[in-house]
Amino acid sequence: MPRYDFRCRSCGATFELRRAMAQANDPAVCPDGHSDTVKLLSAVAVTGSGTSAASAPPSGGGGCCGGGCCG
Ligand SMILES: [Zn+2]
Repeated sequence: MPRYDFRCRSCGATFELRRAMAQANDPAVCPDGHSDTVKLLSAVAVTGSGTSAASAPPSGGGGCCGGGCCG
């Protein structure tokens, strides 16, 4: 989930939130409770190339040792 940096214009504090991209433009509330915040353009490292095709999850079925292949 991407992180977004915000800055509070009431107290000047900066904070970051993890939220879905669909909620990126939703208003954020300062940790101190102020609602006058602005979203900063931070350099979020979005690695778009390379999907999960190369990293298949291990088959944790546990059926190996039952077949005698484990020794
Ligand atoms: Zn604040």
